[in-house]
Amino acid sequence: MNFRDAVVIEGIGKRYYTRHNEMIALADVSLTFHEHEFICLLGPSGCGKTTLLNLIAGFEKPTSGVIHAFGRPVVGPGPDRTVVFQEYALFPWLTVSENIQYGLKRLGVPKSKRQDVVSHYIDLIGLSGFAHKYPKQLSGGMRQRVALARALAVNPAVLLMDEPFAALDSFTRERMQDELVRIWQAERKAVVFVTHSIQEAITLADRIIVMSPCPGRVVEVLKIKDCRPRNLDASENIVIARLIRDILHMPTASHNPKISPNSFIEKSPELHIN
Ligand code: ADP
Ligand code: MG
Repeated sequence: MNFRDAVVIEGIGKRYYTRHNEMIALADVSLTFHEHEFICLLGPSGCGKTTLLNLIAGFEKPTSGVIHAFGRPVVGPGPDRTVVFQEYALFPWLTVSENIQYGLKRLGVPKSKRQDVVSHYIDLIGLSGFAHKYPKQLSGGMRQRVALARALAVNPAVLLMDEPFAALDSFTRERMQDELVRIWQAERKAVVFVTHSIQEAITLADRIIVMSPCPGRVVEVLKIKDCRPRNLDASENIVIARLIRDILHMPTASHNPKISPNSFIEKSPELHIN
């Protein structure tokens, strides 16, 4: 299969200036994400994950460098790149159906077509029968399903997700991860998913972009070859988790399987661990 480049990030730097300080949120980030690819941006708090996502979304402008989405320079937000946030960013005064079709309405899509899209996504996210409920009548997991449906309804080329499951309990979070993989396999969008959970990244990603703070930068790119659904207790996935902890200088679990990670992950040749 031939993959086109979905997002090309070239030499991106982002500085924030406060009254007395300069903060380098991102330094010299260059990455290419492919069509249909599931990318996880992984790293501790403050390493610039949200900043990078916001730059791809066009919410913020880089201090240096340029980002292209499907060949076009990113100069602001657009329906080709939609975002799912951690907090449930649904409109509380709109029903599930109205929330899902909000973006389509703004784009001037006629009502009959909007109804077709809403039916499709309500089925896809497993919320049949909830079309006329309001967000406050739904559980946290259900609200994030609606947020996902709303983001997908405008048929974006790239779906951007900023720790969308971080506020959910661990049981719901695991279910949502499985659901997201199923939906991604059905819709085949490029996904850029921010997380600080190593387990979540290994469950979801085709490639994990490991980031480190001060200044925010990419320290490793790992390609996960294991087919889905993935078993996090498999020795190979335990080794990948340990490798990531080593890269980030985090404490490693005592489990120490004698397996080389090279047989099931690829490290990007141009990046080295500092
Ligand atoms: P992450 O999402 O990985 O936790 P962020 O992208 O939110 O990290 O932040 C990266 C760094 O940039 C942090 O040190 C943060 O304090 C700083 N930062 C983010 N947004 C702003 C802002 N608007 N003004 C000043 N500093 C900011
Ligand atoms: Mg963040």
